[in-house]
Amino acid sequence: MNKEVLKDISVLYVEDENDVREFTSKLLSSLLKKVYTAQNGLEGLEIFEENKENIDLIISDINMPKMNGLEMCENIRKINNEIPLVITSAHNDISFLKKAIDVGVNTYAMKPIDLYQLIESIIKAMEPILLKKRLVELNLSLESKIEQEISKIKSILDAQDNIIIVTNKEEITNVNKKFLNFFNITDFDNFISNKKNIFDFFEEEFGFITKEQIKKHDCWVKYIKDLHEIDRIVKIKNSLGEEKIFAINVDYYENKDNYYVFSLTDITKLKEKSNLLEYQASHDKLTGLFNRNKFDEIYTKELKRAKRYKNNLSMILFDIDDFKYVNDTFGHQIGDEVLKEISKLLSNTIRETDISVRWGGEEFLILLPQTDLFGAQAVAEKLRLNIKNEVITQKQLNITASFGVTQMNDEIDDENLFVSRCDKLLYKAKNSGKNIVIAEK
Ligand code: GH3
Ligand code: MG
Ligand code: MG
Repeated sequence: MNKEVLKDISVLYVEDENDVREFTSKLLSSLLKKVYTAQNGLEGLEIFEENKENIDLIISDINMPKMNGLEMCENIRKINNEIPLVITSAHNDISFLKKAIDVGVNTYAMKPIDLYQLIESIIKAMEPILLKKRLVELNLSLESKIEQEISKIKSILDAQDNIIIVTNKEEITNVNKKFLNFFNITDFDNFISNKKNIFDFFEEEFGFITKEQIKKHDCWVKYIKDLHEIDRIVKIKNSLGEEKIFAINVDYYENKDNYYVFSLTDITKLKEKSNLLEYQASHDKLTGLFNRNKFDEIYTKELKRAKRYKNNLSMILFDIDDFKYVNDTFGHQIGDEVLKEISKLLSNTIRETDISVRWGGEEFLILLPQTDLFGAQAVAEKLRLNIKNEVITQKQLNITASFGVTQMNDEIDDENLFVSRCDKLLYKAKNSGKNIVIAEK
């Protein structure tokens, strides 16, 4: 062991011969951290009791007045049974040696004291203590390092998506901070000890990850993992009634077969955005009615459906009369207002199953499933009157519209023919003096 370690060692040196004590302690002081001295066993014991936290090793003579060295060591051992004991003695009396063994003396340095030998004895006696100390320090630093690492990982996890750890019995055993925050949970221990089933948290969104679905499959983890990404979506409501949409991912807890990690990514905003985009892509901005794009999509399906089930399907196409005049006389803004008002009126007049579309500038189309020509004609007539009587802006505009109405003929009609017949009827209405409904099969 390196002699450098001596600098960290404090000793109690007990010797009754003044010259020897002064000389030896002086030399030891230059090598050690601190040297406490005492003239006899009794004084040595007192000093040890006062400084037991600081003294690392005892060096003691044997033959001394008041209390001999071995007696002192025996008493010190009662206070600290590990402290190394180094005896300096000219004694080779067998009974002393036996007693020394009983007391647990670690080493001897024979008198007259050879300093080199004494130092060697100190180092030898301290070795196990120092090794132990170093081990403890090492363990402590290791522990604090591990703690640091764990808290680092925890903070990373907390900054992540909602994370839930679940047993193979679907019970929640751990969650991260984000999850607690969303669920407004303050008592983590109580929450965990209640052994909540994870699937109780999921409200039906697309119907793939519900308790019922899960029950139908032997291995629910595999079932979820095998779902397509866009179906791995759940809705969760927290105690405040806040609803959020999450995309779910399940992973195995490394090295532990029976634990799974759910990560839930909040896609509420994304979903709202995509809903908005979807809305924008399918609706007319000014009137809120379906646009031509959306109509094309619906129209094909409705036509096929009507043909297959031999249902009636009718169409109304109408166009505001002399709208150019409205714009030119009162301005485009008033024109817009009229368009909006007509759209509102339109939505209030037709059935929920009817599909209304802004066909062009001031032209509107209504598709009426399960409605025959007479029904559609009645709707058109009602609309014509409503427009005439109710579309009143502050300018008293006397707005009217002309209507073409027709019914699908499932023998001859395709997408184009059906619309063009209706368009022709509208044209006919315009040429017949406007503000009129013309209905033909
Ligand atoms: P008709 O009775 O024959 O239908 O005559 P009209 O003037 O209504 O028909 P025309 O097709 O000549 O004019 C349609 C007008 O509608 C012209 C156009 O500026 C206006 N228009 C189209 N879209 C909008 C819109 O979004 N807002 C406003 N304010 N005007 C529009
Ligand atoms: Mg017009
Ligand atoms: Mg027009």
